[in-house]
Amino acid sequence: VIRTRFAPSPTGYLHLGGARTALFSWAFARHHKGVFVLRIEDTDLERSTPEAVQAILDGMHWLGMQPDEGPFYQMQRMERYREIIAKMLAEGSAYYCYSSPEEVEAMREKARAAGKKPRYDGTWRPELGKTLPAVPEGRKPVIRFKNPQDGVTAWNDLIKGPISFDNTELDDLIIARPDGTPTYNFCVVVDDWDMQITHVLRGDDHINNTPRQINILRALGAELPQYGHLPMILGPDGEKLSKRHGAVSVMQYHEEGYLPEAMINYLARLGWSHGNDEIFSREQLVEWFDTRNLSKSAAQWDPKKLNWVNAHYIRETENSQLATLVAPRIAGLGGNPEAVDLDAVMGLLKDRAETLNQLAEGAMLFCRAFAGVDPTLKAEHLTPEAVTVLQDFADQAANLPDWTTEALADLIKATLEKHNIKMPKLGVPLRVAVTGQKQTPAIDAVLTILGRETVLSRLEALAN
Ligand code: GLU
Repeated sequence: VIRTRFAPSPTGYLHLGGARTALFSWAFARHHKGVFVLRIEDTDLERSTPEAVQAILDGMHWLGMQPDEGPFYQMQRMERYREIIAKMLAEGSAYYCYSSPEEVEAMREKARAAGKKPRYDGTWRPELGKTLPAVPEGRKPVIRFKNPQDGVTAWNDLIKGPISFDNTELDDLIIARPDGTPTYNFCVVVDDWDMQITHVLRGDDHINNTPRQINILRALGAELPQYGHLPMILGPDGEKLSKRHGAVSVMQYHEEGYLPEAMINYLARLGWSHGNDEIFSREQLVEWFDTRNLSKSAAQWDPKKLNWVNAHYIRETENSQLATLVAPRIAGLGGNPEAVDLDAVMGLLKDRAETLNQLAEGAMLFCRAFAGVDPTLKAEHLTPEAVTVLQDFADQAANLPDWTTEALADLIKATLEKHNIKMPKLGVPLRVAVTGQKQTPAIDAVLTILGRETVLSRLEALAN
C-alpha cells in the first residue's frame, strides 16, 4: 500500500509551496487508495511555535487535505530516536566524535586550502586496526553516522530522473548533538522508516539531504522510499516566490475570499498538468494524478490566473452557498447581510466577482444603511430636469403590477422614449437617487432587489 507524508516544519504559516507539496502527496495517496501521513517536524525549538502548528492544521483543513494518520510530532518521538542511535552505536554504523567545533572548522579550512571539498577528516571514525585518539577530558561528543567512503549513492527521482552523489562528497553526518538531541536528517530517516513511507514528495531544496538519508536508511536495513523532488515556485518576476510577491500564507487567501476548490485547482496546476485541462475538480485531480505529469522545471505564480480560476468557481457556486460564505464578510464590513435577499444579490454580482471579498463589497450597496445622497453628487446629477423624469418614473413604478427585472426594464425603456432622452440621462440620476452611487450593477436588477418600497421612498425623498 502506498504511503505518503507531508512533513512541514512549524516555523511560520502554511505557505503556498508547502501547500502544493502537501497537495501532491495527498493526491498521490488518494489516487492509489493509500495513506497520507502528516508529520510535524518541530525539533527546531527556537523556531517552532504552537501557532505555526495550528496554522498548518487550519490550512490543511481549509483545503480539505485531511491526513489519514497523524499529526505526529517529532518532539514526542525522542525516545525512539535515541533507541535507534544506541542501536547504531552498538552495531558500529555510528560513532562518538570528540572533535570540537573549532577543530572541525580547522579541518574544513585545511581541505579548502588544498582545493578540496570542506569536510570532517574522520579523526574519530573507527576503522579496523586504527587507534583512536585519547578522549579529551570533559568534552561531550557528537554522534556521527559512518557514511560509506566509496561508491555512489543514486536514486531514480520520480520527477528529476536519475540523480547520484559520490559518497566521498558526503561527510559523516552528525546524527546527535553533544546534548544527545537527534539532528534533523536523522529524525526524518527514522520517521520515514517507522511510518513506512513508500513515496517522499518534497521540495528540491532537499535534494542534498536525500543521499545522506538513503545511506542511513541502508545502514538501518530499511527499505528505501521512492523520492520525488518538486521544483520550486517562482514569483511573477522569476525570483523565488516570497513575501515580496504578496500573500504567501494559504490562510491569507482564505481571508481574501478565495474558494478552497479554486486554490486546490490552481496549486495543482503549479507544476502538474493533465493535457490542457485548466479547470478540474478535486475528484478529477485524484483520478488523474500521476507523478509522471509533474513538471521538471520551476512553476510561476500568476495571481491573475488564480483570480481567473477563483472567478470560475464563484460562478459555479450556488447563490445560496455564496450567500452563506459572504454574509460574515459583509458583517465584517459593517453591513447587515439580512437587510436584503442575499441569494439574489449573489446572482447579480457573481458573474463579475473574482473573490468573496469583492462579492461582499458589492453587496454593501444593499446591506449598508442608506445615508442619503452626497450633496456634490446631488448637485451634479439630480438636476431639476432629472428629478422631473425620476418623479414620473416613480409614479409609473408605483403602479407596476409586478416588481420584476423585466417589468422594470420595460418601464425604463418607456420612460426614455416618453422623455426623449438617452439611457445615461435616466440611469445615472436613478442610481444616484436610489443607491447614492453613480455606478452600480444593472439598474433594473438593482431596483428589483432593493424592492418597491425602498425604491419609491428614496425617489419620494427627492421632492424635499
Ligand atoms: N520539514 C521539511 C520542510 O519543512 C520537510 C522535510 C521533508 O519533506 O523531508 O522543509
